[in-house]
Amino acid sequence: HNATTSVLHEVFEAMRPYFCEEWGNPSSTYKFGSKLKAVIETARAQVAELIGAHSRDVMFTSCATESNNAAIHAALKANSAKKHIVTSAVEHSSVLNYCLAMEKDGYRVTYLPVDRDGLLKLADLENAITDETAVVSLMWANNETGVLFPVKEIAVICRARGVLYHCDAVQAAGKVEIDVSPDVGIQADYLSLTGHKFHAPKGVGALYVRRKAPFSPLIHGGHQERNLRGGTECVPLIVGLGKAAELARKHLADYEKKVRPLRDGLEEGILSSIPNAELNGHKTQRLANTTNITFHGIESEALLILLDKEGICASSGSACLADSAEPSHVVKAMKSDTAAARQMIRFSLDQNNETNQIRAALASTVKVARMLRT
Ligand code: PLP
Repeated sequence: HNATTSVLHEVFEAMRPYFCEEWGNPSSTYKFGSKLKAVIETARAQVAELIGAHSRDVMFTSCATESNNAAIHAALKANSAKKHIVTSAVEHSSVLNYCLAMEKDGYRVTYLPVDRDGLLKLADLENAITDETAVVSLMWANNETGVLFPVKEIAVICRARGVLYHCDAVQAAGKVEIDVSPDVGIQADYLSLTGHKFHAPKGVGALYVRRKAPFSPLIHGGHQERNLRGGTECVPLIVGLGKAAELARKHLADYEKKVRPLRDGLEEGILSSIPNAELNGHKTQRLANTTNITFHGIESEALLILLDKEGICASSGSACLADSAEPSHVVKAMKSDTAAARQMIRFSLDQNNETNQIRAALASTVKVARMLRT
């Protein structure tokens, strides 16, 4: 479920009219199209509510990869004389590869390290920021381990040092409370979301841009999204994102209660019944749904092939990089022993998982690990 989630039936039903019946272009002047502007604004308000933002500060994008690129791009454009970016070694490829591209364009990038538990040292962030720093991009929750970064403190440091802060909150949405409201919330300047991690369809995301934060478009075109992002709005997907955000907010109170016991049951079961299995990621400073485990002596690929045969969907890193033979960059950044990064798998649960599924996943994992060790 950290790779993606199903579209909820309620979300699908909310979207349905906007494919074949209400198919107008929201930018048209006639009512058949223009009435859809209000539909988009309802969805914007629903997304804004999920993160404690004002509707005006939320723009729709095609995905979080675009949101992440657009945020860093905007911060760099606004500070064109500053040629330094601070990020971490464990960010998603949509941030890391954007930074790599910027390095080729002459930027210097600091990739902050993490400790064995995947945690960041705030002193490292303090030390990395210089007068040359244009933007800090640090995620809320890690997609591979679920480890949570101290986003509130990060935002305070960035604000105090006068540096723009972008937060990739993709894995946090729907799993922990996100609040960017001016007084009590996280003072991030930009915050990225994507629908398909919280039961909206793939292909729609959002970017929160704090009112006073600079923004210049990554995608130039028509006047959509108040001139911030060109391109005809995909009304059905936007409606789906809005509905999913509303439901995620409604279900948030129960999320931990439902998913944590399932995750803990799976994790404790694996660690107690499979010798030489090691948890990757801080025990408590972590999302309730994710467990990332190294099975020493067993290659991830072999485990995953056999688990797949058992009908268990797990991964050895981000789904976006699943076709590469590279070991997990996240676990590699956490542990010096590179075998740990090639011998790990991630299970990521959802509140809709059921106890019998977790029992089956545990039994299959124990079975295939024993098979591969003999
Ligand atoms: N950031 C994180 C932490 C992710 O887990 C993902 C999803 O794979 C992304 C960004 C990219 O999201 P999208 O697939 O919407 O581009």
